[in-house]
Amino acid sequence: MQRRVIQIIIIYLIGLAYAMYLTSDFLLGILIVGFMIYHIVSIQNLNRTLEQDLDTSVRSLQYRLDKSIQEKKATLEQVLSLSDSFSFGLLMLDEEGIIQLANKDMKHYFDLELDQKPYDALRTIEKLYDFVHQSYILESNLRRQIVYAGADYDLISTPLYENNIFKGCFIIIHDITILKNAEKYQKQFTADVSHELKTPLSTIKGFSEILLRDQDIDTDKRNEFLELIQEESLRMERLLKDLMIIAQMDRVDYELELVESPIDEIITETYTRLSRVMDNKSLSHSISVEPMTLAVDPYKIRQVLSNLINNAINYTDQGSIFIEGYVDETDYVIKISDTGIGIDDSNREQIFKRFYRVDKTRSRKTGGSGLGLSISKNVVQRHGGSISVDSKLDEGSTFIVRLPHKDNAIL
Ligand code: ADP
Repeated sequence: MQRRVIQIIIIYLIGLAYAMYLTSDFLLGILIVGFMIYHIVSIQNLNRTLEQDLDTSVRSLQYRLDKSIQEKKATLEQVLSLSDSFSFGLLMLDEEGIIQLANKDMKHYFDLELDQKPYDALRTIEKLYDFVHQSYILESNLRRQIVYAGADYDLISTPLYENNIFKGCFIIIHDITILKNAEKYQKQFTADVSHELKTPLSTIKGFSEILLRDQDIDTDKRNEFLELIQEESLRMERLLKDLMIIAQMDRVDYELELVESPIDEIITETYTRLSRVMDNKSLSHSISVEPMTLAVDPYKIRQVLSNLINNAINYTDQGSIFIEGYVDETDYVIKISDTGIGIDDSNREQIFKRFYRVDKTRSRKTGGSGLGLSISKNVVQRHGGSISVDSKLDEGSTFIVRLPHKDNAIL
């Protein structure tokens, strides 16, 4: 700026000297000096205005930039707090590969502190790191399932673009462990059902083929084969009935039909219905039940009691069966005790699983489907209760059903 003023002064002084040399007019000299001063002052004023304008522009630019950064930060915080309420993990990288957002679930799944760190921070979890790395490098949609610390995760990445320029990527992480387990369980269940159906079916097929092929079989043998065919058909029928109960209970909208019912009468009815079978097996039996009205699904509770009493009969060759029902502080307690074969420690929990039998041959002889206890457990739990067993091998078992009353009841 100073240089410019000096240049102007030099030009005017040259002009003044030349004018003086030509005209020696003093007034002309004063006029030129006047112009020079006016020129310098104008230039200085102009510069000052320009500087002020520049200052204002820079300040307004700075202000707008700050505002935009603050807005972005606020939006990010909003997204973060919103994403914390999602039931899936969320990770957002910017174009530099810096983690701008990692929600609560994401941190919880992988136990990492990630905010504002480069995605290299994920290296400890190799499969997750590989996925994030590829999403970032390839700038495209990706999907992959990984297993980490015994849990299954479904990863989906989406690139973010602004005016066709890559701005980072979003990665959504779903914990699909429950789904995967359900899938595994479903596969196992289908395999078990097929296996259970295979034996009676091949028996029916085999004996019916013999009967059709060999017309000379004597009547006794023919009857024996026909009885076997009937037995296996009944087994299949029972299995299908139990499977239908399971299918019904597995439905999401399944609900018990709770009715205030005299639980003592339900127990006595079931006991009386089955006492003829106990008599036929020469098993002594008795019952002692305290009266009480309880909110239960009577049909389902009857099924549970039938199953437990039938088991007591099937797994007891001699001795007795005793049914007890009484009220304690929290529950109505039903005990079904037998002096049968008993269950050892290693099988006590297992017997409540679908298709689990301690002795397959014995269970087959009694026509059991291996589903009774698992159905019973499900029904009792849906009533808010529990089922357990006390047992000693070769001495007998006591199955204990607890159904909550009043304060604990599910009504
Ligand atoms: P099942 O149709 O085989 O009886 P359950 O689910 O009712 O199927 O029972 C599962 C297994 O638990 C039975 O196969 C048997 O091994 C065992 N179990 C059940 N009740 C008794 C009992 N009262 N005494 C001894 N073992 C029992």
